[in-house]
Amino acid sequence: MRQLIIVGNWKMHKTVTETLEFLVELKEKLSNTAVEVVVSPPFTALAAAAEVLKGSPIALAAQNMHWKKQGAFTGEISSAMLKELGCKYVILGHSERRQYFSETDDHVNKKVKSALESELIPIVCVGESLEQRETGATEATVEKQINGALAGLSPEQAAGIVIAYEPVWAIGTGKTASDEDAQQVNGYIRKVIACRFGNTVAEAVRIQYGGSVKPANAQGLMAQPDIDGALVGGASLKMHDFVGIIQNVL
Ligand code: 13P
Repeated sequence: MRQLIIVGNWKMHKTVTETLEFLVELKEKLSNTAVEVVVSPPFTALAAAAEVLKGSPIALAAQNMHWKKQGAFTGEISSAMLKELGCKYVILGHSERRQYFSETDDHVNKKVKSALESELIPIVCVGESLEQRETGATEATVEKQINGALAGLSPEQAAGIVIAYEPVWAIGTGKTASDEDAQQVNGYIRKVIACRFGNTVAEAVRIQYGGSVKPANAQGLMAQPDIDGALVGGASLKMHDFVGIIQNVL
């Protein structure tokens, strides 16, 4: 049985002060829940967030990292640095990273390997653009992204990662994929993983859906057999909505 995992990706939102205010309240509201809850503040707030979340079941994720452990890479952050701060997860290959910062499947693959070496769990994001969906290229797109991101991993390594299917046209647009469309792609991703790593790995991997998830649609999406959680953007910044999503899927 795969435990549901709900991750709040804050993107470039919330200062340290705002992070602390939010997490003190979230911690009180979610002192015990059957769902795994993760928050992903910006780099600048991770240390403060780790401190306030100590002893709570809420885990911490970073939003990106470099694949090198250290070196002359001005402005970059390594997996070892994130691990030391108390991160359990790292979001990799988000479509905004691919779109605005030219990340390729090869970059994502290097990052996945580096994260695993530092004992961070990668949350690997994949998803098609509107044009790709409209031209029938959704499955080919996610298959290429999955195969690229997971190249060279052992079955044991692959079994522990999290995948987030986030159709680009649904991110921040208010347009959510229907329960059936999201299930269809998540099911396909599981098949791709089964082909590459075998059925046991495919059954173990958790595959989230992301893209305009809110309290009103969370329950229907999470009830799908191949949707094991949500990667939430905008709604994770608002206490009422984020807690609502978590409570609605219980
Ligand atoms: P929204 O929930 O704001 O659509 O963002 C989704 C997302 O990109 C999470 O990573």
